Amino acid sequence: MRVVELTSGVFHLQGGVNMGLVVQDGKGLLIDAGLDKDAARRALRVVEGMDVTLEAVFLTHAHADHFGGAYLLQRRLGIPAYAPPLEAAMMEHPIMEPVFLYGGAAPIQALRHKFTLAKPCQVDHVVGSGPLTIGPFQVDVVPLPGHAPNQVGVAVGDVLFCADAVFPTETLQKHKVIFCADMDDALETLERLPGMPYAHFAPGHGPTYEVGEEIADICRANRERLEAIREEIYAATESPRETGDLVQHVADRFDLQLTTPTAYYLTRTTVLAALTSLEGDGKVKAIVKDNRLMWERQT
Ligand SMILES: [Zn+2]
Repeated sequence: MRVVELTSGVFHLQGGVNMGLVVQDGKGLLIDAGLDKDAARRALRVVEGMDVTLEAVFLTHAHADHFGGAYLLQRRLGIPAYAPPLEAAMMEHPIMEPVFLYGGAAPIQALRHKFTLAKPCQVDHVVGSGPLTIGPFQVDVVPLPGHAPNQVGVAVGDVLFCADAVFPTETLQKHKVIFCADMDDALETLERLPGMPYAHFAPGHGPTYEVGEEIADICRANRERLEAIREEIYAATESPRETGDLVQHVADRFDLQLTTPTAYYLTRTTVLAALTSLEGDGKVKAIVKDNRLMWERQT
């Protein structure tokens, strides 16, 4: 785990999944908890190495790779967790993540692994947006919806821990169809992010971006990818198509090999988010014909 000090006492813990650490008066606030107990232990080693007592953990959104380690922190240290509404409910009932992916039904075994089904944690404080005091820490909770329905960022001074609002170039290259629950919200968040009043943007994956060109460029690349996905789907509805056809079409167009049910269902969620966005623009409509749900172009 690479420890990058962004401003005095504000650290970006960079690994497979990043975390944030704010230190003040010998106390620490952790932002996100990693995928599992191993990730949480790695963070704890950093905290202990600084001779700091962890006060609380703030969880930005209910994806297993960001809150899966929280139960270990709570079991070991008894610290409170903070999270935004809805996301908090999913952290306390993590089965909802694979249930959502699987369309509301009891999920298949393939969706019940630690990447989609975390251990539950207890959210002691469900928090809205705006200023928030946690022990000695003054932070700002910043709504960043889209990637997850109610995702938030945490601002400390001029650092914004911006969760999965923006993905690094490597993720765009590797995963291509980036995960998104609400495409309109995600695009709007990406539009706003570079203009927010912070100097450093510390995301949940990849490096820190500085204010100005760095954050603007990566937000633009993410936006262009989401728009390209939506455009490909619209183009494919020249004749009415089923959702599964559109998943295959998008994967083919972006040269993506889906090899597991999890990868398939994650991609399908982004495709469905794009369809909702297109429906909102009056461009496609869901119709049922011959007992098949088809996406039909409207304009
Ligand atoms: Zn996420």
